[in-house]
Formats: sequence, structure tokens, C-alpha cells
Amino acid sequence: AKQQGGNAYRFYSSDLNERSLQFLGLQSDLHKALERREFRLFYQPKIDTRTRRIVGAEALIRWEHAERGFVGPDEFIPMAEETGLIEPIGAWVLEEACRNIRAWQASGLAIPRISVNVSSRQFGAPGFYEAVHRIIADSGVEPSHITFEVTESVLMENAAESTALLNRFKAMGLHLSMDDFGTGYSSLSYLRRFPLDELKIDKSFLAEIDADHAPADPGKGTLIGGIIALGHSLGLTIVAEGVETERQHAFLQQHRCDQCQGYLFSRPLPAAAFQRLLEC
Ligand code: C2E
Ligand code: CA
Ligand code: CA
Ligand code: CA
Repeated sequence: AKQQGGNAYRFYSSDLNERSLQFLGLQSDLHKALERREFRLFYQPKIDTRTRRIVGAEALIRWEHAERGFVGPDEFIPMAEETGLIEPIGAWVLEEACRNIRAWQASGLAIPRISVNVSSRQFGAPGFYEAVHRIIADSGVEPSHITFEVTESVLMENAAESTALLNRFKAMGLHLSMDDFGTGYSSLSYLRRFPLDELKIDKSFLAEIDADHAPADPGKGTLIGGIIALGHSLGLTIVAEGVETERQHAFLQQHRCDQCQGYLFSRPLPAAAFQRLLEC
């Protein structure tokens, strides 16, 4: 057992080493990724729970690394936040989304509202409002075509400042969504004070509606039902993310969740593939 323990330790520490080397390698590559044009913006449809029609889409960044292939945002967004690279990357995301919206409009398509993720360092950065205002104004896109998704924890970090900034974005015409709802803590009074349009129930809640429980089961999933009712009483559109099964969809429909997003309907798609969906 002792021998095994030693091996396990060696394995563990060399694994750690490898990981930090990997981290360093990725970090220096991340600096070059923008100028090398290695980022891609994918779009995942948001659908109306009842009609299953596309009513929106979330823009999700992908990094197409020359040697490693696609690197997911969970891997490099935290790194970008740490190094401050999130600011130019975030600007690229908004510019690219605006470019895509303009191109789709130019080809005569009716564009659903596009959601863009804003992470904590971006939201707190000085000059963020001005940068957003400039990018959107330069693009010619109507601000009402865009939703900002900001997580609960970001907003609660500094609730007073967040409220002021959200009010400015709201006045500009943007729609505002609280992302990953239920994973942090937010008091009811703040939910009312933030000028939100939408609440996204975190996908971890969806696991509650599992295969062992009928959609009508009053035990499991009541938390989701409660969140939907609460959100509606505040006049918010409720979106469930991570919807993977028909059972989950049926449950959400029964509880009057407004919109769903998840692999059941579509994976995130490259812009061209998303455009083809809009064309049907
Ligand atoms: P998020 O904002 O919570 O995005 C939802 C994540 O759930 C996405 O992961 C999406 O691909 C994934 N997803 C969608 N449907 C399903 C499903 O049915 N099942 C499961 N298990 N997952 C599903 P993704 O694209 O890997 O993004 C991860 C996170 O990275 C995002 O979480 C967001 O926090 C961040 N992120 C992505 N794009 C951007 C961006 O452009 N800017 C910033 N600041 N953050 C971004
Ligand atoms: Ca999101
Ligand atoms: Ca989310
Ligand atoms: Ca998330």
C-alpha cells in the first residue's frame, strides 16, 4: 500500500507539473490568439418552451488553437480574466456578434435577440460602459437586439455599483439577464432592484428532473418551479439552460418556463450553421 501511495504521489506531482506547463504554454498562446484570429463565435439557439421556435441565441466563444484544436472557454476564460486579456477578448466577442447580426440582417433574415456573456473582470473594468457604447454605435446594431448575460455572483460582489451600471446599459437599450441563477446568493430585494429582463436557471438544477421521476412528481424539481414562479412575479423572462431530455422539457413546459436552451434542441453552432437554421 505504501509503495502504491508513493507512486500515486509521484504521478500526482508530475501531473501537476504538466498541468502548470500546459497552463504556461496556453497562456503565452492566448496572447497571440487574437492577432492570429483563432477565436470563433458559436451560437446556441434559445427556444420558446411551448412552440419550440427560435427566440434567441447565446453567443459562446471558442478558441481554435493551431496545435490543440478547439479549447473550451472554461479552460481559457479564467486565464483571460487573470491576465486582463478578457478585456480585448470581450471586445472582440461583442464586435463579432454585431458583425454577424449585421450580416444576417443584410441577407434579409429576422434576427432573434443575441445574448453575450460578460464576465466579472470585464464588468468591473473602468471604461467598460464607454467601450460597449462605442462598439455597438459603430456597428449600427440596435442595442435592443443584444442581451448581456451577467452572473449573479458578479452582480452581488458590488451590488450598488452593479445596479448603477446595469441602469446605464438598460437606458442604452440593452436587455439584461442574470446568468447561472441559483449558484450564488442573491437576496430577493436585489433581484427586484437590478433592472433585469431575464433570469437563467443554472443547468445544475436541471439534474433534479432526472429519469427516475415523472415530470409531475411534486418532490423533485419543486425548487425549479419555485424559481420560475418567483421570477414571473418579478416580471422576468425565465430561461432554463442545459435542457438535454424530453422529460426536462415537459417539466419546464408544465411549470411555464418561458424559454429553453440545451443539447435537446441544438448544440452551439458556428455562425454559418446558425444562419442556416434562421433561414428555414
Ligand atoms: P455559460 O454562460 O453558463 O454557458 C452555458 C454553457 O453550457 C456553454 O458552455 C454551453 O455550451 C453549455 N451547454 C449548452 N447546452 C447544454 C446542455 O444541454 N448540457 C450541458 N451539459 N451543457 C450545455 P461553454 O460554451 O463551454 O461555455 C462555458 C462558459 O464559458 C460559459 O458558461 C460562460 O461562462 C463562459 N463563456 C463562454 N463564452 C464566453 C464569452 O464570449 N465571454 C465570456 N466572458 N465568457 C464566455
Ligand atoms: Ca451564459
Ligand atoms: Ca449559464
Ligand atoms: Ca456558467
